[in-house]
Amino acid sequence: MKKILQDYTKEELLTRIKPSFRAKQLWGWVYHKYADSFEMMPNLPKALRESLASEYTLNPLKMLTVQESQDGSRKYLFELHDGHTVEAVLLLMREKSYHEDGSIKHQERYTVCISSQVGCKVGCAFCLTAKGGFMRDLSAGEIVEQVRIIKRDNAIDANRRVNLVYMGMGEPLDNLDAVVKSVKIFADCDGMAIATHRQTISTSGLSSKIARLGKMDLGINLAISLHAVDDELRVKLMPINKAYNIQSIIDAVKAFPVNSRKRVMFEYLVIKEVNDDIDAAKKLLSLLDGIKAKVNLIYFNPYGGTEFQRPSDTSMRAFQSYLTSRGLHCTIRESKGLDISAACGQLREQALEGEL
Ligand code: SAH
Ligand code: SF4
Repeated sequence: MKKILQDYTKEELLTRIKPSFRAKQLWGWVYHKYADSFEMMPNLPKALRESLASEYTLNPLKMLTVQESQDGSRKYLFELHDGHTVEAVLLLMREKSYHEDGSIKHQERYTVCISSQVGCKVGCAFCLTAKGGFMRDLSAGEIVEQVRIIKRDNAIDANRRVNLVYMGMGEPLDNLDAVVKSVKIFADCDGMAIATHRQTISTSGLSSKIARLGKMDLGINLAISLHAVDDELRVKLMPINKAYNIQSIIDAVKAFPVNSRKRVMFEYLVIKEVNDDIDAAKKLLSLLDGIKAKVNLIYFNPYGGTEFQRPSDTSMRAFQSYLTSRGLHCTIRESKGLDISAACGQLREQALEGEL
């Protein structure tokens, strides 16, 4: 089987491909022009193109379906070389900025939500990805390629700013080496140049891996999927809490290097009559005391066969205002792409069930 070219960092390619300026040209074709064949690189000598084509593939992922949501989000389903499938979502947000003369301009802000594994071992009770079990880790190149295809498919210029969130399928810290390698490939300033402070890793709270990631000091943002404020409930929702309880996560977060202008995000999936009461908000406030934190409340996104329900708007707002009125940053995540079932694992599930 051919190697995946996107599995390699620029430094690795520089040692593999000589002379090194050729490796740099290749890197530009791949990450600035989104080339999908070596044929498309006319300034590389034919012999080099042929030898590259015999050793490497540039297309480890096949785009199977794209679904567009009313709000413009686009959800992609990709097939890997072994037939497994993963999802990624392009989220569009309108951002206000200012012209030099002070007038307001509106610009789309792109965020790509990417997968790190096929399935997930963590087995959270509310998560559709977990239902299908765990298949395998993605390689760095398979992670990188999700973004490259989405940028190409939407004609997003190489210079346009893009944010990345590792919030698709899988637990990124359970595939730490490949994820960290992808972070570095994304950040390479001769490539996609997505600075690490524009990348966010979301984790169910593998405390020991948070510590390892923290020691690498990549400048990446951290998001913690907390979802419950006491261990008894959290174990029921997220069995991983038996191995890494809430206090261990809080301790790991306190030791994590956070950019001075940033905060650690705590995601709190709100489920009707499970964790949506003001008592929970109260405990959350005291739990986060002393941490530079922000809270993101997420509506539970229901799917067929789940026992859980979406919370009411009233309880969401009450939860939020309890926290904000006490000085904690707290936002409610818009249900981006809800009509295309953009929550974790939902598109893939439909495809497996033959609905697409
Ligand atoms: N494994 C990582 C990253 C992927 S999940 C993690 O758990 O953080 C990304 C986010 O989607 C998590 O916060 C997860 O709790 C949330 N999620 C899972 N199922 C959901 C659902 N049905 N509705 C809304 N959010 C969901
Ligand atoms: Fe895995 Fe995250 Fe889903 Fe939990 S919520 S099963 S950690 S993908």
